[in-house]
Amino acid sequence: MGKLNVTILRYLTGEDFRVLTAIEMGMKNHELVPASLAAQIANLRYGGVQKLLKELCRHRLLSYERGKNYDGYRLTNTGYDYLALKVLARRGTVTSFGNQIGVGKESNIYIVANDEGESICLKLHRLGRTCFRNIKSKRDYHQHRKSASWLYLSRIAATREYAYMKALYDRGFPVPKPIDFNRHCVVMELVEGGPLCGVYKVGNVGLLYDELMNLIVKLGNHGVIHSDFNEFNIMITNSGKPILIDFPQMISTEHVEAAAYFERDVKCVRDFFKRRFGYESELYPTFHDISREDYIDVETKASGITKQIKDFLKEMDMVEVEDEETEDECSENANEEDRSTDENEINVQLQVENSVRSEFMCTSKETLVNAKVNEKKD
Ligand code: ADP
Ligand code: MG
Repeated sequence: MGKLNVTILRYLTGEDFRVLTAIEMGMKNHELVPASLAAQIANLRYGGVQKLLKELCRHRLLSYERGKNYDGYRLTNTGYDYLALKVLARRGTVTSFGNQIGVGKESNIYIVANDEGESICLKLHRLGRTCFRNIKSKRDYHQHRKSASWLYLSRIAATREYAYMKALYDRGFPVPKPIDFNRHCVVMELVEGGPLCGVYKVGNVGLLYDELMNLIVKLGNHGVIHSDFNEFNIMITNSGKPILIDFPQMISTEHVEAAAYFERDVKCVRDFFKRRFGYESELYPTFHDISREDYIDVETKASGITKQIKDFLKEMDMVEVEDEETEDECSENANEEDRSTDENEINVQLQVENSVRSEFMCTSKETLVNAKVNEKKD
């Protein structure tokens, strides 16, 4: 499953990619992109574009569908993969493909190699593909956004993942080295080892337990909570060292539900150690043990990556301004660019993210769509 036939990449011409990109852009506000619109966006002749579109459908990079009012094209998962891979290949970050090593509900993980032949890890995010089935009728006017939502959500997930991984790596946290990202793809160091869920014997159980608990607290001291800290997202290297992965759902310690998420992370580790190793300790951290010394959530904003997300949202016209209060705070925020250390900005940022979450409430990556926040909003 999920096989990527990368040889196609070599055969696709510049014009092919231009047409693919035109469909991607058209999908921002059209569920199906008619050939005429694609031609217009790509700035190519209609006749030529039709031929290219047909060919792209044959390679399953696009699909042609009949809509209620008109027929048109949409990007497939594979088509989106190729757009991202083309960029990563051009930069030399990903030049050849190996095996798929992981399949999550929301991602596919591959071993790939860079132009120096080193093995690295490629994560393709796949969010929100089926989530609109139970959407509320009051959101019907967002219908045209359905088609773009999976592109957009997967892209947000990858951007967040890269931003957090970089912030953590720069501070010496045990995480894979982030290498590059584009659209829904993140390229990172390949961890030589396996997830903790596959580990049945540990040299020193108490030591590993302490390391993991200290890691949770250290994250908290830097202003963040992993929120999915469990045996599937902790890799154990061949030399027994834990490496933390999987970051799109990370939240700030300023989040309204921060304490609950923190304590759930702690509980996951305790439960696992009890179940797997029969190990129980009276010592475990609570949210009050955090002493903030740093604000990673702020820094990821300052680095411009969050600005990129915001610009993207604006571009997609996806941020719903729900009431005047939010609108005021957003515009105020826009006027004062360098308030990035102000806690208000954290709140504004969370509001923006939360309004996005409620817009896409049925996505499964838990804290990208924070169920509790949504309940309150609705
Ligand atoms: P998901 O968001 O789908 O849970 P993860 O980031 O947790 O994706 O990755 C899924 C699996 O892929 C992991 O359990 C692990 O086995 C493998 N994996 C992920 N990142 C790496 C990496 N950098 N090196 C090696 N294996 C990885
Ligand atoms: Mg995971």
